[in-house]
Amino acid sequence: MYGGPGVKTNNKDFPIPDTMKACVLGNPGEVKLAQKPVPVPKRAEVLVRIDAVAICATDLEIIDHGSPALIQGGKPFNKNFTPGHEYMGTVVALGPGVDEYRIGQRVTVEIHAGCGQCKRCREGMYTSCHNYGLNYGDVDKGHRANGFTTDGGFCEYQVNNINTLVAIPDAMSDEEATLVVTAGTAMYGLTELGGLVAGESVVVTGPGPIGLLGVAVAKALGAQPVILTGTRDNRLAIGRELGADHVINVRNENVVEAVKRLNDGKGVDYVVECSGAPNAVNEAVYMVNRGGKVCLAAFPHAETPVDVAHIVRNNIYLYGIRGEGKSATHRAEAFMSQKRFDATKIHTHTFALDDLPTAIRYAKDRVDDAIKVVVKARGVAAHRVAAE
Ligand SMILES: [Zn+2]
Ligand SMILES: [Zn+2]
Repeated sequence: MYGGPGVKTNNKDFPIPDTMKACVLGNPGEVKLAQKPVPVPKRAEVLVRIDAVAICATDLEIIDHGSPALIQGGKPFNKNFTPGHEYMGTVVALGPGVDEYRIGQRVTVEIHAGCGQCKRCREGMYTSCHNYGLNYGDVDKGHRANGFTTDGGFCEYQVNNINTLVAIPDAMSDEEATLVVTAGTAMYGLTELGGLVAGESVVVTGPGPIGLLGVAVAKALGAQPVILTGTRDNRLAIGRELGADHVINVRNENVVEAVKRLNDGKGVDYVVECSGAPNAVNEAVYMVNRGGKVCLAAFPHAETPVDVAHIVRNNIYLYGIRGEGKSATHRAEAFMSQKRFDATKIHTHTFALDDLPTAIRYAKDRVDDAIKVVVKARGVAAHRVAAE
């Protein structure tokens, strides 16, 4: 029988099995289905029945080479680890003392529950928790990063600290709710830049999911103009639908000159860098005006050249942001539930959990122009394509 001391359940409406289907990492690149015990919520935690989970580029990196996931101080391979961090679902069990959420409530989740006791957590910067990854054994500080340092969402149930939950309205679909944390990451970037972007000019570089929703959030915050740059016209077109006033294909023109031309030769107030391209940081600092601010939201794979003299001479600010801190997901969800932008424009495919390897392939190879690929444990028939 599922349960634990002080844990509340509702067996009639939301029966919980003892074990569940979960994807686990084997060797690098290998994802397989396994059975795991359904985890039991502790103090300040709930059990979420996972109704949908989106695949993120970071999941693909974890599946392929392990980092940035860190399990017991090492890479996550062959440790029965379940990746996946962009999930939503229904609260089906409450840990001892939890009265902030009710059983049956639909929620989406943030990735990071900081330890709650370090300097950064106390400042709301829980994505930069100083006890990051200290989740096991004697050094367990209660920190969690779903799908990074603790089990994530490619399974049927997961425990979440109540600090990571964001309530969602009935009108928001499961698929849309998985995108709240992506919009929340963009919102965190704009928060760290100062947050007051109404009437200010913003460039977003790189039309991946965070960049596209970065355009939407900047526009919803009143930025003017919002300019999106990238290499693929179909992605730039989606950026326009999400609110970009101008788009620039960097293959066709000099992007710095094009940005300046759109701003009376002056450059913009803010750049949100979401491309991770090797020349992106220098281009960003050349695009902002004097005293402008640059948010670095992408993880480049190689060391990146930076024109420090230009930055100093022009009093330019650079902000590295990590994830979705300072409750930014709540502000993003507020925009989404008020329909200030339609995040579902970046959702392209849905697969059954059993089809996770196919879903991963779609996301990785951008099959059929895939952007956000969502996986659901229920309500979607698994379709095995015989020819594959
Ligand atoms: Zn992600
Ligand atoms: Zn902390």
